[in-house]
Amino acid sequence: MTAPTGTDPRRYILSEHAFSAPALEPALYIVSTPIGNLGDITVRALETLAGAAVIACEDTRVTGTLTHRFGLKTPLIPYHEHNADKQRPKILETLERGEAVALVSDAGTPLISDPGYRLVRDVVAAGHKVVPIPGASALLAGLVGAGLPSDTVLFAGFLPQKGGPKTRRIEELAKMPATLVFYESPRRLGATLATMAEVMGADREASVARELTKRFETFERGTLGSLAEHFSGDAPKGEIVILIAPPEDAPEADESDAEALLIEALKEMPVSAAAKKVAKQTGLDRNELYKRALDLKASSAD
Ligand code: SAM
Repeated sequence: MTAPTGTDPRRYILSEHAFSAPALEPALYIVSTPIGNLGDITVRALETLAGAAVIACEDTRVTGTLTHRFGLKTPLIPYHEHNADKQRPKILETLERGEAVALVSDAGTPLISDPGYRLVRDVVAAGHKVVPIPGASALLAGLVGAGLPSDTVLFAGFLPQKGGPKTRRIEELAKMPATLVFYESPRRLGATLATMAEVMGADREASVARELTKRFETFERGTLGSLAEHFSGDAPKGEIVILIAPPEDAPEADESDAEALLIEALKEMPVSAAAKKVAKQTGLDRNELYKRALDLKASSAD
């Protein structure tokens, strides 16, 4: 850091002191920004945003608030899912001229449920350098505060919004031996937790992180059942991360047990419901059980 002149284009202001950022080597810089608390900006992020030729951002008004707050003068260009195909060649041209480009999202780390993946892929393919400038992300802030195992983690982003695809996705993930992390809107939280409790079991340990790094940050910790109950009323305010502990180690189910359970279940319910019930009881694959249940049904009809 060096003292800037009054018109220094690479200037940034931190705690009322002006600094001049060092020159950047040409590259695409993926810069994390705060997820609510502006104090979470890093010095390296400020130096990069100040030193880049342009900042590509989702919404120039949102990022404008950040650049204004830190006295940054770097021009902003919009880069979001609707203009990405048009903007990517322009960003590549800037890199080809030997300039540095910073990519930010509205909040947190770009590419994490945010735009940027195709840009990074194209920049790499064109032979330019990509430099991550790490910092805040709701995924990591939620994970480290949830009190759930953090050794193996599966980030599942947003679930599909429609009922059928959403339930199928939860079923696919249910048996993963990992802590699962989801982003969810407060409006859908109660219904999503209820579906998760139904599919994964009401007693599975989980946590809901709300308004991370902000004034009303809270963690609700419990089981999927208790959390579904807690959030069954009015939608909470703010932004939400859902975290679910890995499944308890289920004892290996015996194939003949599964067959006996299927025969019992088929006495009371249709094939698909029987397969679903026995999959939950045994931990065996639901599609395999469905095929076996169809065979059992056919042979009992012979
Ligand atoms: N790229 C961002 C990141 O690194 O976390 C995520 C962007 S995604 C479009 C926005 C979602 O992230 C929100 O709907 C919410 O699920 C989660 N999120 C972002 N900020 C949050 C916060 N302060 N507290 C809780 N969840 C947050």
